Amino acid sequence: MVQEKGTISINTENIFPIIKKFLYSDHEIFLRELVSNAVDATQKIKRLSSLGHYNKELGSLNIKVAVNAEAKTITVSDSGIGMTAEEIKKYINQVAFSGATEFMEKFKEANDANEIIGRFGLGFYSSFMVAEKVEIQTLSYQEGAAPARWTCDGSTEFEITEGTRTERGTDIILYINEDSLEFLEENRIQSILDKYAKFLPVPVQFGTKTESVEDGTDEEGKPKYKRIEVDNIINNTNPIWTKAPADLKDEDYLDFYRELYPFQDEPLFWIHLNVDYPFNLTGVLYFPKLKNDFEVQKNKIKLFSRQVFITDEVKDIVPEFLLLLHGVIDSPDIPLNVSRSFLQSDSNVKKINSYISRKVAEKLAELFKKDRKAYETKWSDIGLFVKYGALSDEKFYEKAKEFLLLSNTNNEHYTLEEYNAKVKDFQTDKNGQLVYLYTADAEHQHSYIQSAQKKNYDVLLMNSPIDTHFIHHLEMKLEKTSLKRVDADVLDKLIEKEDAEKHTLTKEETEKLKTIFDKAISNTNMKVEVESQSADHMPVTITMEEWMRRMKDMSKLGGGMNFYGAMPDSYKVSVNGNHKLIHKILSADEAQQTVLAKQAFDLALLAQGMLKGADLTAFVERSVEVL
Ligand code: ADP
Repeated sequence: MVQEKGTISINTENIFPIIKKFLYSDHEIFLRELVSNAVDATQKIKRLSSLGHYNKELGSLNIKVAVNAEAKTITVSDSGIGMTAEEIKKYINQVAFSGATEFMEKFKEANDANEIIGRFGLGFYSSFMVAEKVEIQTLSYQEGAAPARWTCDGSTEFEITEGTRTERGTDIILYINEDSLEFLEENRIQSILDKYAKFLPVPVQFGTKTESVEDGTDEEGKPKYKRIEVDNIINNTNPIWTKAPADLKDEDYLDFYRELYPFQDEPLFWIHLNVDYPFNLTGVLYFPKLKNDFEVQKNKIKLFSRQVFITDEVKDIVPEFLLLLHGVIDSPDIPLNVSRSFLQSDSNVKKINSYISRKVAEKLAELFKKDRKAYETKWSDIGLFVKYGALSDEKFYEKAKEFLLLSNTNNEHYTLEEYNAKVKDFQTDKNGQLVYLYTADAEHQHSYIQSAQKKNYDVLLMNSPIDTHFIHHLEMKLEKTSLKRVDADVLDKLIEKEDAEKHTLTKEETEKLKTIFDKAISNTNMKVEVESQSADHMPVTITMEEWMRRMKDMSKLGGGMNFYGAMPDSYKVSVNGNHKLIHKILSADEAQQTVLAKQAFDLALLAQGMLKGADLTAFVERSVEVL
């Protein structure tokens, strides 16, 4: 007996074709919406019961998802508050479409299903993406309520009749349409539930599994076992981020990490987030051990809203430099269903962003203070985050000054302040400018580093991909300080001192030396200069100017060719006017001069690892001859 027929109050002819058409991308979220509604209804009855407004037995509150491939139905059942026929009319027929006019105007801009569903409260109606007909069977918790049934075939026509449910709660039955039969496969439903429902606060049951239970004893008195079918609860209703940090041990955090990322190395450390003012946010963020391929490691943070999984695209909520972190964030205050641009300007999102950034800084400061040794051993992993953070977020840099470390070639680590104190006496030039020396490759630039150390200079190791930018950043931030790579010039020029070495050569001798070397290396386009250095430094040194090299490094990072990338390498060949060998060259006969000059030049190339192929072979042959 039909009790009532009606038309869903909507002033636009038919909204469903639009929903179906525009929500093609992620049909699977219908299940998230229905299960979330079931969770809400369940939590409402729990609350009513705890407040004393509902005094009957609560019974099992498990939510059940069932697939019937034969009948082509998916049913989501709960034992929540249920609905009366009046409530169906109010909540399902009218409220859902109160925003319909607005919807019709806006749907053109909407990019994905999430956006439409959330903005217009179409959660329940997302079922029509996969169903040709939807049926609600429900019984309200209210005293004397009658069971109600609602059906709708995706047109604006609906039907309300008396229902058949005898227990409090709701069944939502979807009659799956021909295009969506994939959702009748158990594996598909299982994987959707794993994705969205894994940490829902109410037990969700899907299918059955078998378990071994004791079944009396055998003749020898040993226990016997049998297998029985039990409910298969697919979720963990109390994930660690909902618990108090004080109640958790390291092992709990590590277990949870393994649960989320089964095949990953152990994380370095983690941060438990927990705020309730001015916004609500909980979560656990892990610092992973970084591998070389950053891209693969991004987007590992999962965003939840009241334990419902929403997305692992957290670009706009987490500061860019922390995208490599892993873990979960749960916040009902993040507007989940709005467009990107709106999200970026949302004030809660901004606050959340700076909160996370601050928390991370605090944690790092704490680790540094508590156990500096341990912190230093992790520095190669942590450093990348910290440097990137310092580069991209001014406030973070201010905090990071405390725990940002510079590492030198002796594997010692210093804070910015400590390092300044360490080198300032030796490495300040005659103009009061402090020069930090660095190398990108200690092995390769060994001879330069050794010369620097002979002069009591220290050499920093700057070998991560981010260091090219970080060096530049340091120069902007540190007062009267510049950074130069050890091979950017001869030492006396890298850090110019009042008492710089002078060479004793006459003007003519200097000219002559230049000519000899120009001739000896005429097959290269390197520039020769005669300079004064300590007698115990190399006779010839090859350097590349700091500025030009940096430009080239930057253009390499940027990929592709540009102006600087296309410039030929411009090396300087520095002849040490104080070296014995150089003096010897001057006094040798002409043929010898060229041989010796070539030999000294090749030694310099060799020291910089630039001597290769035929040149290397020629050098070895020549050396044998000379010996
Ligand atoms: P939203 O959940 O965003 O309010 P929906 O369209 O998903 O939007 O649901 C509309 C309303 O229908 C809900 O607010 C709720 O009052 C009611 N409702 C939906 N599903 C259930 C359910 N399983 N049990 C009780 N009430 C429900």
